Amino acid sequence: MPDVALVATGGTIASTQEHGGRTPTSSGRDLLAQAGLNASNVHDLDLGGSFAWSLETMRQVVERVRDVLGPSASGSGSTRPTGVVVTHGTDTMEETVFLASLLLDERRPVVFTGAQEPYDSHAPDGPGNLKDAFAVASSPKARGRGPLLCFDGSVFTARGVSKVETLSKHAFDAPGRGPALRVHDGRVTELHPMRPLPPLRNVPPDTGLPRVDIVASYPGADAVTLRASADAGAAGIVLAAPGTGNTTPAVVAEVARLTAAGTAVLVCSRVPSGPVLPLYAGGGGADLLAAGAVFGDDLSPWQGRLLLSVALAGSGGTTNGVVRAAHTVGDWAKNPS
Ligand code: ASP
Repeated sequence: MPDVALVATGGTIASTQEHGGRTPTSSGRDLLAQAGLNASNVHDLDLGGSFAWSLETMRQVVERVRDVLGPSASGSGSTRPTGVVVTHGTDTMEETVFLASLLLDERRPVVFTGAQEPYDSHAPDGPGNLKDAFAVASSPKARGRGPLLCFDGSVFTARGVSKVETLSKHAFDAPGRGPALRVHDGRVTELHPMRPLPPLRNVPPDTGLPRVDIVASYPGADAVTLRASADAGAAGIVLAAPGTGNTTPAVVAEVARLTAAGTAVLVCSRVPSGPVLPLYAGGGGADLLAAGAVFGDDLSPWQGRLLLSVALAGSGGTTNGVVRAAHTVGDWAKNPS
């Protein structure tokens, strides 16, 4: 029987209070039992808190999902899963779901969920979220949408979804975009038609994702952090910039040096909603564009970082390759999805 598989990676949904603090101790089967669900295809990844992961850990989760899905089902009688639910820590769920959207070319639903309250809470939200995620992963309305994030009855596409509350059970939103589906009592309702994002490129599972750092800009920002990132080997840097993508003249000067030396620089905004645009002189976005930076539309710095890393993977590290990858990122970010 084709069914929905579960990939359990830890997070608060699986955590119990231990001596040193909350720790993921519950297995995928524990989560299913708590929610009163059945699934035969369950995979546990023992990865600890998602806040402490590396880029490669996120990649490992995506590659496990790819393996669990197997090749796309062709014809009836297939025993491959019809979809996958991934339980994940909320702290970086928006990043792994976005990385999955860049790397997986898949019509079957892949639905990420988690919880704000731990497994041993007297009022856990994990069981409800898990039930919702299974309902979404079983729904034809979720097919062909790319990886989704389901939380507290709202379902978001990968691009633009963001954790917006540290403790409240309504932890996620997609500022400026909103949810794409709602789920209630197992019923999935479509709020607006969703166009799946094109996977950026097919990066073979064994190709490493290059280091891309995020550098914040603020009044008084200088070149020090940018230089430190480049010295540490970053192939790309995302500038988390105020407003529509502005910074200080000192940062602009360093960006010009970095891009000339073959480091890609992507401008994203610190503001939760709306695009970056090269509007201002005097240290603003117009200067950053002239300094060779590319603009990430309304991508958050966290999602922009993953996009740049995937684009740079396989660029060969040559200046031309980096420039091509940077422009791919700029074009992709403008995608109207
Ligand atoms: N607070 C996080 C969570 O909800 C912990 C983590 O990201 O692993 O799971």
